Amino acid sequence: MNLILLGPPGAGKGTQAQRLEESEGLVQLSTGDMLRAAVASGSEIGRIAKPIMEAGNLVPDDVMVTMIEQRIDRSDCANGFILDGFPRTVAQAESLDDMLRRTGRRLDAVIEMAVDDGILIERISGRFACADCGAGYHRRFRPTAVEGVCDRCGGTEFRQRPDDNEETVKTRLAAYHAQTEPLLPYYREQGILRSVDAMAGIDDVAARMREAVGAARA
Ligand code: ADP
Ligand code: ADP
Ligand code: ZN
Repeated sequence: MNLILLGPPGAGKGTQAQRLEESEGLVQLSTGDMLRAAVASGSEIGRIAKPIMEAGNLVPDDVMVTMIEQRIDRSDCANGFILDGFPRTVAQAESLDDMLRRTGRRLDAVIEMAVDDGILIERISGRFACADCGAGYHRRFRPTAVEGVCDRCGGTEFRQRPDDNEETVKTRLAAYHAQTEPLLPYYREQGILRSVDAMAGIDDVAARMREAVGAARA
């Protein structure tokens, strides 16, 4: 089962990908997380990506396509993957299609997480994650069970993303509308687009996501 989650920054892609990873036995591939790891390690890709990410713009397609192709090729993806944050442009989607065709794989579903722009600033400004295991939280909507302790790994250090500020979010949202939204008709034409209303609470959205995955399996 190979899935793509599509939606604006803050829609809940990472949150739901983590849930599906557990319920469906798939591997979550988050290009945002991969790029942040590259920045932290100071690699060549990280040096290119850092200023672009800080401004909220998109990292060049060739960098992204190379990164994701190498990742999908690894054996842990054999059972299936959930792409979160890729593709983000039609050119990336076309490269992905080429690559999947070349390697005898296919996409089972592209799930659009539909939300109104108006809620995104609140979702993003309350977002934080465990510094050790990466589990995602929200100050108001998804706090840790015990204040200051990660539910998943017991870690006590948390971080906020430097690009989760209002100004950068506006740029990221504009990039989403201009460059990523055209993927909706692209995948609708392929007959694999499913749309989920992602305005509800996390558990309700998770149930809708499982339904969409189940329908794609059938
Ligand atoms: P994305 O990966 O699409 O940018 P995230 O999954 O990181 O979005 O979610 C953004 C923030 O909103 C996180 O802090 C997350 O805990 C919170 N969140 C995710 N889904 C919901 C939801 N359905 N309702 C309220 N808050 C949510
Ligand atoms: P969000 O979850 O808020 O949508 P991500 O963590 O997916 O944000 O991405 C953070 C940043 O990483 C983006 O603003 C962009 O600069 C870069 N990035 C991530 N994925 C891609 C991609 N597929 N193409 C280009 N840039 C990307
Ligand atoms: Zn943790």
